[in-house]
Amino acid sequence: QAKAAGRHTFRFYSEAQTRQADARLALEAALRRGLEKEEFLLYYQPQVDLRTASLEGVEALVRWSLPGGELVPPARFIPLAEETGLILPLGEWVLRQACRQMQQWVARGLPIRRVAVNLSSRQFRQADLLQRINAILAETGLAPRYLELEITESLLMDNSAQVDAKLEALEAMGIRLAIDDFGTGYSSLSYLKRFPLHTLKLDRSFIRDIADDPVSSNIVASIIELGQHLDMDILAEGVETDQQRGILLQNGCRTCQGYLFSHPLPAEELEARWLRAAAGHEARP
Ligand code: C2E
Ligand code: MG
Ligand code: MG
Ligand code: MG
Repeated sequence: QAKAAGRHTFRFYSEAQTRQADARLALEAALRRGLEKEEFLLYYQPQVDLRTASLEGVEALVRWSLPGGELVPPARFIPLAEETGLILPLGEWVLRQACRQMQQWVARGLPIRRVAVNLSSRQFRQADLLQRINAILAETGLAPRYLELEITESLLMDNSAQVDAKLEALEAMGIRLAIDDFGTGYSSLSYLKRFPLHTLKLDRSFIRDIADDPVSSNIVASIIELGQHLDMDILAEGVETDQQRGILLQNGCRTCQGYLFSHPLPAEELEARWLRAAAGHEARP
C-alpha cells in the first residue's frame, strides 16, 4: 500500500514537474520572441532629494509588454532570464535604451542628474563588459557621469581580483556605482571600504518598519551615519509614508525613492510630471 501511494506520489510530482518544465520552456521561448520583437520597455522611478523635494535621478525598471496589452513585472521574467542567459541581450537592451533616453533629456536641458540601471551579476561577469558599456556610451553620446550602475552585494562577495579590477575601471570611466538592496545579503562592512561605491541603497525591508520598530529605525540611523563617514550617498528605497520620510530626513538621509513620491512611470509621464514643470523654458529639439 505504501508502495502504491509512493508510486502515485511519484507520478503526481513527476507530472507536476513536467508541467513546470513545459511552462518554463514556453516562457523562455516567449522571452526570446519578446526580445526579437522588442516587447520590452522601461519605466523610470524618481529618486527625490528630501531637502529640496526636487528630482535627483531616476531608476530604470524594465517591463515586458505582451501583445495582448498585459504589462509583466520583472519578478516574473528576470529570474528565468538570468538562468537562461537571456539577461545578457535583455540587460544590454535596457542599458542602451536608458542611456539613449537620458541623453535625450540631457540634450534638452531637462533637470535630471542621472539614470540608474540594474546590472545583473551575470552581465557583470562578462569578460567584455567594459567594452560593451563604452560602446553604448559612445553610440548614445551619453557622458558617463549621468550613468549609475546598480549592483548587488552577492556580486561583491565573489571576492576575486576581477571584481576589483572591473569596479575600478568603471569608476575610472566616471560611471557611478550603487549597491542595491543593501542589508539583505551577506554584507560585510569591509566591502564598503574596499570598493569604489558612490551610493548605498537601503533596502525597503528596513524602511518598512522604521516608524513602528525602534530596532529597524536604529539600524537605519546607524547605516546612514556609516554612509556619511564613508562619504557615500544614502538612498532609502520603498518609502511609502510621510512618517517614514520624516524619520529619514531627521536621520540625515538625503535621497529617497518610493511610492510616496512616485511609482515608476513611462518616460512621457515622467517628463510631464517631473521634468517639464521644473524646466521652465525647455529647448525644443
Ligand atoms: P530593485 O532594483 O530593488 O527596484 C526597486 C523595486 O521596488 C521596483 O520593482 C519598484 O517598482 C519597487 N518599489 C519602488 N518603490 C516602492 C515602494 O514604495 N513600495 C514597494 N512595495 N515597492 C516599491 P520592480 O520594477 O517590480 O522591479 C523589481 C526588481 O526587478 C528590481 O528591484 C530589480 O532587482 C529587478 N529589475 C528591474 N529592472 C531590471 C533590469 O533592467 N535589469 C535587471 N537585471 N534587473 C531588473
Ligand atoms: Mg535597483
Ligand atoms: Mg533596490
Ligand atoms: Mg529591492
